[in-house]
Amino acid sequence: MLPLFYHPIYTEGIDPSARFPRERYRLLAERLHKHETIELREPRLATRDELALAHDLRYIDTFLANQLDEKAMRRIGLRPWTPAIVERTLRIAGGSLQALDLALETRGIAGNLAGGTHHAYRDFGSGYCIFNDVALCALNALQQKKDQRILSLDLDVHQGDGTASILAREPRVFTCSIHAQSNFPFRKQRSDLDIGLEDQLGDLSYMEILERAMDEIEADRFDLILFQAGVDTLAEDALGNLALTREGLRKRNQKVFELNAQHGIPIVIFMGGGYAKPIELTVDAFEDLFQQAAQAVSSARA
Ligand SMILES: [Zn+2]
Repeated sequence: MLPLFYHPIYTEGIDPSARFPRERYRLLAERLHKHETIELREPRLATRDELALAHDLRYIDTFLANQLDEKAMRRIGLRPWTPAIVERTLRIAGGSLQALDLALETRGIAGNLAGGTHHAYRDFGSGYCIFNDVALCALNALQQKKDQRILSLDLDVHQGDGTASILAREPRVFTCSIHAQSNFPFRKQRSDLDIGLEDQLGDLSYMEILERAMDEIEADRFDLILFQAGVDTLAEDALGNLALTREGLRKRNQKVFELNAQHGIPIVIFMGGGYAKPIELTVDAFEDLFQQAAQAVSSARA
């Protein structure tokens, strides 16, 4: 069974008039309910102390009191904000932390049907991201066990700038981001390995580059992989500049899940971006992602 954390507030915590395609969570959960190898679980709320591992207390408290100023909110987006945005944000971070615990406990794969909020920095949010659950999970895992080598593998079409920034001085976490160079964020941060791809890159070149990167960083030497699995690299995505097909994304996912099936490395999946028009294409790609993860888990057990 693949455990995935999901709550209706992932959709309902965003105002229906926001430009963000909030229905993607609900549509995906409806599809995944039909998979017998996937179990949807309710996420808990992350605590203030947990958030403080990766974030500035003043930023956390201002957000929790729903008192971020206009400029800070504009930088995040998802507007107009509903009061439910606080609970939504805490459940997303909580779900990622629970997925982390399950992946470590079972040495398997677990995930969150949201999160991958990699544009959030220590003291401000950006690009639909409020708290950085990838950095949070990395620092939480290190708190549980000091001598670990963690790979933050960010394959969203946008650079994991917040993750790179928060983890810049943490040598036990290797941050790798493979993204479209021309895309948001326009001011990039430095990950341990950044690969900025040319616009309209297709499946074949993408896989060559991914395979080379995995060899170069010796991906099989890590104790834990945090996989930001955004599907906004899809050709039909409205916010991506790449040209991957659904099949190309399946190959990408396979390459990552092999690290669990062949080397027993625990993997946490963070959903990440996906803004295709129509949104069903994004939902298809995410359904593939989680179905492949469920398959990898059952083949590792066999
Ligand atoms: Zn993205």
